[in-house]
Amino acid sequence: MALKRALNGATSAVASGVPKTYLSHKRTDIIRPFMVRRAIDGQLPERYNLKTMILGVHVSGAGKIYEALDRAQALKCQTLQIFSRNPQQWRTAPLSPKDIEEFKRRRKKFHIDPVFIHISYLINLASPNPRLYQGSIQAYIDDIQEADKLKADYIVTHMGSHKETSEEAGIERLTSALNKILDKTKGSKVGILLENTSGSGSWLGYKFEHQKEIIAGLRDKTRVGLCLDTAHAYLAGYDLAAKAGPDKLVDEIDRLVGLKRLKLIHLNDAYGKLASHYDRHDHIGQGSIGLEGMKRIINHPKLKNIPMILETPKDDEKSDSLNLALVRKLSKN
Ligand code: ZN
Ligand code: ZN
Ligand code: ZN
Repeated sequence: MALKRALNGATSAVASGVPKTYLSHKRTDIIRPFMVRRAIDGQLPERYNLKTMILGVHVSGAGKIYEALDRAQALKCQTLQIFSRNPQQWRTAPLSPKDIEEFKRRRKKFHIDPVFIHISYLINLASPNPRLYQGSIQAYIDDIQEADKLKADYIVTHMGSHKETSEEAGIERLTSALNKILDKTKGSKVGILLENTSGSGSWLGYKFEHQKEIIAGLRDKTRVGLCLDTAHAYLAGYDLAAKAGPDKLVDEIDRLVGLKRLKLIHLNDAYGKLASHYDRHDHIGQGSIGLEGMKRIINHPKLKNIPMILETPKDDEKSDSLNLALVRKLSKN
């Protein structure tokens, strides 16, 4: 049934005037979005098995954790992000084995790949407060172990706040926290992604020199990568609205950390001025980065095959589907 629907999609693409030859090579945009899902599953002929945008959204984890997958599926997402638990609370109870099994089952059924887990806002791996610091390390280890059970692929991490001690001291604490975490979770396949921040307060990670320094200080670098949040980058001072903005940012990441470490893009427009350091996201095309800027990011040749997750405002129940539809449209250029 699904396959038939998918093939019908291809036929109508031809009927709508797209040259037939496009179906046989790298033009994937005309068969989006559900065609692509089947392509990943390998159910389509070779010619559809193409590299394409892996798009998803941060979905609520309300109720049972596996219900998050239903939400992503309803939005025709190929990937998703969820919080490891209530982002404003420390852990209450661990997930039951039954819920974990059901998560894995639905994920496979819906072809959601990869799965990203965002850590709680309470975790601060750069905290100068010894109790919060140790508590954060322990909570992080618990989160990786749980992510491992869920077979999630990556944990997305904010870089922590040095709380007006100093950036160097904060980076040192963060690096040693990560060394400890990596040590204690040896053997885990869950990757750790360091997300850039908007640079509000004393948050680390608003420029990629920080990520470079932290990764350089890790004993095991194999499980560590980057998450690029486009709104945070803009608010931190990277002018992604300018024509040359995305190129400059991509080059900087490549030079400092290496583009191969970039495993996720948080595709958000920014609410607020360039370099205003105030972390607020906007709907795609409606913020300061704007439609053209977002289009350049989405279609950047060096970013195209990296999963993109929206963390745009959820004003009403249509917000996610509207933002996703716009991204899919912009990616057709
Ligand atoms: Zn984040
Ligand atoms: Zn983000
Ligand atoms: Zn943010």
